[in-house]
Amino acid sequence: MTTIGSNLQAVRERIATACAGAQRPVTEVTLLAVSKTFGPDAVRQAHAAGQHAFGENYIQEAVEKMALLADLPLQWHCIGPVQSNKTRLVAQHFDWMHTVDRLKVAQRLSEQRPEGRPPLNVCIQVNIDGGAAKSGVAPAEALALARQVAALPRLRLRGLMTIPEPAEGYEAQLAVHARAAALLRELRDTGLPLDTLSMGMTADLEAAIAAGSTMVRVGTAIFGGRMRPNAGTPA
Ligand SMILES: *Cc1c(COP(=O)(O)O)cnc(C)c1O
Repeated sequence: MTTIGSNLQAVRERIATACAGAQRPVTEVTLLAVSKTFGPDAVRQAHAAGQHAFGENYIQEAVEKMALLADLPLQWHCIGPVQSNKTRLVAQHFDWMHTVDRLKVAQRLSEQRPEGRPPLNVCIQVNIDGGAAKSGVAPAEALALARQVAALPRLRLRGLMTIPEPAEGYEAQLAVHARAAALLRELRDTGLPLDTLSMGMTADLEAAIAAGSTMVRVGTAIFGGRMRPNAGTPA
């Protein structure tokens, strides 16, 4: 097995252990392999080891990679910040968009989603721990934005996404992730049909799953350290 293959296996075991500990079926948690900064060969290796869903932060880099991997049946998730003049590429090429945090971006994505493709799956990014320089809508504004996004014809609102600041230790991680899970429940209780909580990365996927994550986004534990370590912060 390749390194990427055995890394994937180890991550799947972490997810299974976390699900067992939380008494959740392992089928409730999807693994998104975050392939940003890694080339198409790394993605091919992960696919050969059974991985289908990939997350990318940089639109241009992602679109180039997709073209080189068009022979594989992959699902692509945009997890990076997007400027409103880049929405067309997202609408045309991705299956999911996790970082919607304002109506204007959602409207453009809906208008630009090609007719021949299914609606774009979207999550609303929430700034769950109030980081000053962070993207994401404030928790108190999530419901209003969710209602507006849910009404757009070419989008399918799936849930919430968070990127909390790195927290020291399991309990602190769990506390932040639990706030996101509670917010998702509040939105669902208003009748919005949401099924996705995109949270948890290499360092905190156990706490995220314990809190209720349905999609963990894992890069380093699968592909190794990135040459551009800050990849993921707004460029
Ligand atoms: C880079 C990135 C990840 C993966 O982080 P790792 O710590 O390498 O697992 C997950 N989510 C987002 C939004 C990212 O930018």
